[in-house]
Amino acid sequence: MMNAKILIVEDEPAIQELLTFNVMQAGFLALRAEDADSAWLQIRSHLPDLILLDWMLPNTSGVILAKQFRADARTKDIPIIILTARGDERDKILGLESGADDYITKPFSPRELMARIRAVLRRHVPQMSEETVAAGGLELSPTSHRVTAKGAGVELGPTEFRLLHFFMTHAERVYSRTQLLDQVWGTQVFVEERTVDVHIRRLRAALEPVKMDNLIQTVRGSGYRFSTS
Ligand code: CA
Repeated sequence: MMNAKILIVEDEPAIQELLTFNVMQAGFLALRAEDADSAWLQIRSHLPDLILLDWMLPNTSGVILAKQFRADARTKDIPIIILTARGDERDKILGLESGADDYITKPFSPRELMARIRAVLRRHVPQMSEETVAAGGLELSPTSHRVTAKGAGVELGPTEFRLLHFFMTHAERVYSRTQLLDQVWGTQVFVEERTVDVHIRRLRAALEPVKMDNLIQTVRGSGYRFSTS
């Protein structure tokens, strides 16, 4: 879960401050926005791993914004937790129907907030988890930062390590260069798509001595896939 980016969309400065403090205290990176426009601005430069979204925002509501996030190709899979001062059942249902994954009522305890953030991230962002993953004879440990191939060590640079971690937790699915930039680099603005090809080449070169470079497959016209078959 380390380094997960959390976008906090909250217009009340005191609450935004409190949320930011707690999120950073827990070791996450905090991105801040006070309305819909600034939320989209943040998303354009850094794709968050989770969005904390206030129910009542200037000129719009969290529910409307949640629906917009669900309708946009870049943000449709980002988990959302709605923050609300209301406690009634009808609002909870509305919030969840808008596409939010969870919801928390103000005032909340920091412990409850963090427990919910961690639970949602565990469900949605497996590459943020610190659990060891194994696939196709490879084993990757996020805590020790080690990769082994049938017991033998594989030397990877930090970007190749993150790339492999993402692939191994999302095996058998094709990802475009843009999607990989979003998911592994966390942005698609300042990095060229060719950068992805460079790191794919390095990753394959590192896997070649153990004869596992064929796990990283090129899908013509679409992108790349990690596949054991
Ligand atoms: Ca508000």
